[in-house]
Amino acid sequence: MSGEARLACPRCGYDQAGAVGAWRESCPVEGRCSECGLEFLWRDVFVPPRLVGFVEHAVGRWQWVMWGVRTFAGVWLPRRFWGRVKLELPLRVGRAAV
Ligand SMILES: [Zn+2]
Repeated sequence: MSGEARLACPRCGYDQAGAVGAWRESCPVEGRCSECGLEFLWRDVFVPPRLVGFVEHAVGRWQWVMWGVRTFAGVWLPRRFWGRVKLELPLRVGRAAV
């Protein structure tokens, strides 16, 4: 699959290319990871979702700064903050550490 986006489970990163390769006449809307059991929407595998206002998903320097402030402010309301973060969101460890 060189040159193509890697199709991976949103939670554990297990390769989903085999499941996609088994599709013949139609593709399902929902899927389940055979490794960790997470139920997901295939659209989230093909186009990983972004959380607007969350620093890990910012694009560009200005948005990164603005969303960084917004994310920092959000952590003071942990129930609301963690209510917005979903398992389907891709983890970007480097950005989260900053
Ligand atoms: Zn998985």
